[in-house]
Amino acid sequence: MKTDISNRLIWFKGEILNVNDAKINILAPTSQFGLNVFEGIPCYWNNEEEQLYAFRLDDHYKRLIRSAKLIQIDCRYTKKDFTKAFIDIIKANEYEEDLSVRQTLFIDGFGSWGSAEPVEMFVAPIPRGRTSAEYNKEGLKCCVTSWRRISDETLSPRIKCGANYMNSRVGQREALRNGYDTCIFLNEVGKVAEGPGSCIFIVKAGAVITPKLTDSVLESITRDTIIQLAKANGIEVIERTIDRTELYTCDEAFLCGSAMEVTSILSVDKNVIGNGDTGNITKTLHLTYLDAVRGKLSKFKEWVTPIYE
Ligand code: PMP
Repeated sequence: MKTDISNRLIWFKGEILNVNDAKINILAPTSQFGLNVFEGIPCYWNNEEEQLYAFRLDDHYKRLIRSAKLIQIDCRYTKKDFTKAFIDIIKANEYEEDLSVRQTLFIDGFGSWGSAEPVEMFVAPIPRGRTSAEYNKEGLKCCVTSWRRISDETLSPRIKCGANYMNSRVGQREALRNGYDTCIFLNEVGKVAEGPGSCIFIVKAGAVITPKLTDSVLESITRDTIIQLAKANGIEVIERTIDRTELYTCDEAFLCGSAMEVTSILSVDKNVIGNGDTGNITKTLHLTYLDAVRGKLSKFKEWVTPIYE
């Protein structure tokens, strides 16, 4: 029987439980200090093949392990453990729809922000629509936030940990307060970094341009996917530092991420991008991306892992 959203099953500390029974004590370092590292792993239902595909699972686990290392959470699980828990919990819910699966390593117990243990894990599949509903799919009105992106010298944006999202939050809340859909962060030296939960690309003279991985960004899997898909489509890709003013004068721009997919930026600080509509390169990359995640591109079939036999 399929579970409804309020009674779905989650993998929690080695057990499969009703989500309402998966409890963490309020004093745990993960609750109080955001002491966790996690992945949001997209899964897409392929209608023709009647198959659910997880997208770039291995790359998500590699990043999870890097995040754990950088924040010194001793990762007691192997990639095999991660994969088994992931597949078991999706199957237990009998999901046959697009999902975003939250896979989180956290510090449980009664310790503090400096505690190293106990390390626990949960895996929670969340039907899509909920994660991305807050974004306007037709295109985004963005501002450059007055907050700077966190930097490698303070708390590295390379780490996908809960606490890093407080930087995203202040930028996003400022954008909403001022009537924008979302924001773009500049980094510590005033160059373009990324969105609060997404990476940024601009298009100039037919080439797609995105900040370097050392410009204060998350090592995004969607960013890498877009780079590879663009190259495969014969589109030139440039990874370089981007000036703020280039945002105002580029031909097209988009944000991308596992939750956001590819979403066009229509204006930045009320400067209209291109003709104010989604540009052709953005459209092409968006459609190619949706094919890739559903396992419809033979060249990139190794990116998808089937959930059901
Ligand atoms: N940047 C930030 C700050 C994010 O939170 C996310 C979402 N994980 C991304 C970029 C996109 O990363 P990915 O493509 O791996 O989802």
